Amino acid sequence: MHGALTPYAFHANMSDVHAPTIVPAVRAFHETPEGDFRWDGVDVLAYKSTGTHFQDITRQVLFDGEAAPGVELRYFEVAAGGHSTFERHEHIHAVLILRGRGRALVGETIFDLGERDLVQVPPMHWHQFHAAEDAPLGFLCLVACERDRPQRPTEDDIAALRTHPVIGAFMRV
Ligand code: MN
Repeated sequence: MHGALTPYAFHANMSDVHAPTIVPAVRAFHETPEGDFRWDGVDVLAYKSTGTHFQDITRQVLFDGEAAPGVELRYFEVAAGGHSTFERHEHIHAVLILRGRGRALVGETIFDLGERDLVQVPPMHWHQFHAAEDAPLGFLCLVACERDRPQRPTEDDIAALRTHPVIGAFMRV
C-alpha cells in the first residue's frame, strides 16, 4: 500500500518557499533480490567514509537533522560475519534491532540480540556490534546531530582490553 501514497512538500525553512523539498510520507522497507533489506528512495552509503576497523556494513540516513531537528536516524545493516567499529564516545546511541541476529558489547557486558530488541549505549562505554555468522544484523540507530567524534582504543587500551575476561575475546580491532 505504500506506493499509493501521495508525496507531500514541506519547507525546512519557511522563508525558502520557492524551493520545497518533495518527500514521500511513507517509505517502504523491502528485501532486495540479493536478500538485503533497504529503505526505498534512500541512498545506500558506506558505513564510514574511511577506515578498516569494520566489516561489511551499509548505512542509510533515514531522517537527518533537517527533518527531525536535533537527531539523526540511521539504518545500518551488518552482513553475516561482519562487525561495527570498536569505539566509545560521549554521545549516546539508541538502537532498535529490525532484522537478523547478533551480539553487542556494551561496556563490559555482551548481549545476544534479536529482532525488536532495544539497545542503549551510555556515554563513554566501549561498544561493538557483531552480526551472527549465519545471519545479518540490521538496526536503526538514533544519535544527536551534534556529537563528538568516536574514539578508537589506543595500542595501550587494546593491550589492557585484551586481558579483560569479557571484552578480550569479543573485541575486533
Ligand atoms: Mn558508536
